[in-house]
Amino acid sequence: MEFALLNGDIIQRSEAKVDVEDRGYQFGDGVYEVIRIYNGKMFTVEQHLERFFKSAESIAISFPYTKPQLKEMLEELLVKNNLATGTIYMQVTRGIAPRNHVFPTGKVTPTLLAYTIKAERPLENMKSGVKTILTEDIRWLRCDIKSLNLLPNLLAKQKASEQGCFEAIQHRGQDVTEGSLSNVFIVKNGEVITHESNHLILKGITKDVILKLCSKNHIPVQERTFTLTELNEAEEVFLSSSISEVMPIIEIDGKKVNAGIPGPLTLKLQNLFEKEIEKQCGVLVGKII
Ligand code: PMP
Repeated sequence: MEFALLNGDIIQRSEAKVDVEDRGYQFGDGVYEVIRIYNGKMFTVEQHLERFFKSAESIAISFPYTKPQLKEMLEELLVKNNLATGTIYMQVTRGIAPRNHVFPTGKVTPTLLAYTIKAERPLENMKSGVKTILTEDIRWLRCDIKSLNLLPNLLAKQKASEQGCFEAIQHRGQDVTEGSLSNVFIVKNGEVITHESNHLILKGITKDVILKLCSKNHIPVQERTFTLTELNEAEEVFLSSSISEVMPIIEIDGKKVNAGIPGPLTLKLQNLFEKEIEKQCGVLVGKII
């Protein structure tokens, strides 16, 4: 039996239902998080909770729980669902109220939902690398908030999928921002470059782990905006996310990157990332190398 966490109670997942007037359902008025689970343990959980609370705060949703309380509930959910490898999806909405664009006045309790999903590490794609397309970034100017409003991201990912590609790399004019659900990195003259964490991208937790691994291992890094020309001329390109970890990009709009194979620095970072997982969550069964 699968369980879900709904407003503080762990219940059967099939019984977790949303009211038609929940503002998440009607307006996408809420925020979410996805936490990776390895060996039944949450990877970078503190960072995800921090970002979850920050996203909620930035749209004036206040949690009825503290971070340690939520963490404890998530740990209980993991044990109940006996999840070894996968993700926890969680979201909080402003709650249930008569439909009105203005925030409800008075006490409306936010709806908090969490459930688990079984998902193996995408080892095959991580070994071979993935194909991508380019697409104009049509999102709003607060991409730092992990909002439930994902329509532009869905359109971008759908476009990629229809062209047999794994991800869409978004750009605002000449400037590359990020993937539809990932951050994007290039390697230029042996240096790792990725968009600075500002309102135009989501500050990826995986991105932050990678940046720390770079600085610990004396790999030069620049967090700055890079252009489509730089992307086009890059020695290596990869993306990052909680689900995809360090994922090599071997093709962009039909043009090969690094002759169509994952580059050496990408492989090195994949390896360092795997070691970081093992440090936090214990020895992994399936590995890239
Ligand atoms: N950017 C966007 C738009 C995303 O949806 C995601 C996935 N949550 C990321 C970047 C990567 O973030 P993280 O490494 O925290 O999963």
